Amino acid sequence: MKQYFIIDGKKTQGSNGTFDVISPRDQSILHSMPNASEADVLGAVEAAQRAFPLWRNMGGVEKQKLFLAWADLIDANRDMIAAEVSVEMGVLKDDVVGTAAYIADMIRYYSGFIVTNYGDVLSFEDDHMNVVVNEPLGVIAAMPPWNSPIESTIQKCAPALAAGNTVVLRVPEEAPSGGLILAQLAVEAGFPAGVLNALAGMGPESGEALVGHPKVRLVSFTGSAPTGKIIARTCAEQMKPVVMELGGKSPVIIFDDARIADAIESSVSSAFCFQGQICCATTRVLVHESILDEVVKGIVERVERYAVDNEAFPIGPLFNDKVFHTVEKFVAQGKKDGTLVAGGGVIERDGGGRYHQPTVFLFKDDSSVVCKEEIFGPVLAIIPFSSDEEAITIANNVDYGLAATVYSENRQRIFKTIRQLESGTVWANCNFKFNMHMPWGGPKSTGIGREFGKYAMKPYLQEKNIWIGN
Ligand code: NAD
Repeated sequence: MKQYFIIDGKKTQGSNGTFDVISPRDQSILHSMPNASEADVLGAVEAAQRAFPLWRNMGGVEKQKLFLAWADLIDANRDMIAAEVSVEMGVLKDDVVGTAAYIADMIRYYSGFIVTNYGDVLSFEDDHMNVVVNEPLGVIAAMPPWNSPIESTIQKCAPALAAGNTVVLRVPEEAPSGGLILAQLAVEAGFPAGVLNALAGMGPESGEALVGHPKVRLVSFTGSAPTGKIIARTCAEQMKPVVMELGGKSPVIIFDDARIADAIESSVSSAFCFQGQICCATTRVLVHESILDEVVKGIVERVERYAVDNEAFPIGPLFNDKVFHTVEKFVAQGKKDGTLVAGGGVIERDGGGRYHQPTVFLFKDDSSVVCKEEIFGPVLAIIPFSSDEEAITIANNVDYGLAATVYSENRQRIFKTIRQLESGTVWANCNFKFNMHMPWGGPKSTGIGREFGKYAMKPYLQEKNIWIGN
């Protein structure tokens, strides 16, 4: 296990004791991790600050070579990365090998932006020239979550570094190894000391120290909306920009002219993938009342195939006690407010771990908190509607807007619905599609800014307007 921090290009142990990383599979202690103190955070920010002039001024091709070497090292170490990350996430190693390949490609993708960071010439006259250049901000705080510890690390670090910033990465304390390994591989690839620093620690201690440090010029955070709002308030005091990728309560709208079998399959598979511990899990299925019975029956049949040892339809452990207790609380509320149509109980197993049945409720309307709040667990709410307008109203009637899905065979209805959905991503007659070129994020409490693609570069650059007279 990688029980170290990377600060100023060196492995260090931290100065605040250690904390235990717990296995979601059996709740055993996997290993102890150094716990960052405020002084450790300070050291990391200072190292990043010292490295900034060198990194911002390094030639583009030279930087690009480092990115490509980093990607190659990740590829060469995919198995090791997957082994370390999968035990901390409670997933199969094979599930993470593909992600490791994907993030190596994401680094290659962002290496292209290093050499295409062009500015603008606004005017070039006899007596003056007016140009705009895009400059990096300085030290960036990157804070990825436990449910995507390596993708989110690269989603933040690759564009931030490609723009010429240096980074302090605070890895998620519940799944810390992936980010620390990626930082170590960057050092091995030849990144100058201090360009990418990484440490682990508790949120209210090391997280707050990092967010509030005046030398940190932008905070890129992925996590829950309540924590995101605390961080954004601290940043507002210093006029510090943020990139926030927060929660979701994503709807699937199934109109009466939809391909029902496709809609059922995609609603269920995206609601219960990784036990629903995914920001864009489609946890609300809005169904036209004329097809409600058929859709409910189909969803229940599909959900009942899930089992703990079923490779095709697996139930894995809930990540930690916090997730488990949240799921229990919302399931109890769902039993009061709606009709339980599938699951609803804890799965008792020998050998520890917190397992819960995929659970489906049918509600009369969307007034229950189960239809409103992010649960981040295996709970799906089915809500009927009687008109297109009502479907759109219900879809938008939550404080989130990460992703939404529409199933209909009528293109006009699809276009009209897409235009009215308050959502960063809309899938029509498909679901759960991802691509590193596309923007990711959404309005309301889902956050601020976008990750992925060229859109992720924007927050990490600032325009400087230059007038040159004669
Ligand atoms: P969380 O908000 O509880 O914790 C996230 C991190 O914040 C933790 O590492 C914690 O240590 C840190 N933290 C806590 N208090 C802090 C403080 N005061 N200052 C700084 N840091 C602090 O979220 P979680 O339960 O770990 O993650 C799940 C959430 O992440 C869900 O809401 C999910 O939707 C969201 N998520 C969003 C996306 C997206 O792309 N939109 C992707 C993945 C996860």
